[in-house]
Amino acid sequence: MKKVCYPGTFDPISSGHINILEKASVHFDEIILAVAGVTGKNTLFSLEERTELCRSACAHLPNVTVTFFNGLAVEFAKSQGCEIIIRGLRAVSDFEYELSIALTNKKLEKCVDTFFLIPSYRYLYLSSTIIRQVAEARGNLTDMVPENVRIALENKFKQ
Ligand code: ADP
Repeated sequence: MKKVCYPGTFDPISSGHINILEKASVHFDEIILAVAGVTGKNTLFSLEERTELCRSACAHLPNVTVTFFNGLAVEFAKSQGCEIIIRGLRAVSDFEYELSIALTNKKLEKCVDTFFLIPSYRYLYLSSTIIRQVAEARGNLTDMVPENVRIALENKFKQ
């Protein structure tokens, strides 16, 4: 039984994140999508909103469960019995950042490894930051986010 943890800010969850989850759900028995509470980032969506958006967006993936955590992702992963953290790797620009997190996590918890998954080509340059900017400018979000997230973004910027 391979249970893995996919931690992140998910502000908001994108089609790129879903693509990673769909790939992971083929190779692992259970995936815990863990939404980070305190991230040091000023998020557009609250922790509750981010978690709820992830829940609805992952409803079609029976082996994905969604929860949130505060503190260190690696400690959370261990507390859930996960020996693997999965992260998505897009362009080279992700590499140094992701490598430093993975190495730090390994130092903190020897029993937890990081596996990287590469998204499909069309999601390589998609980020939550870009999505928030497009949404704020009332741009077309087709193919960037699941339908429930598109609606939430439109409502957010209507306010
Ligand atoms: P962070 O956890 O660094 O705040 P995110 O919540 O945006 O970042 O993303 C969580 C994980 O998903 C990270 O490993 C990130 O590289 C990955 N990710 C983000 N966007 C995509 C995408 N379009 N395709 C694949 N992976 C992605």
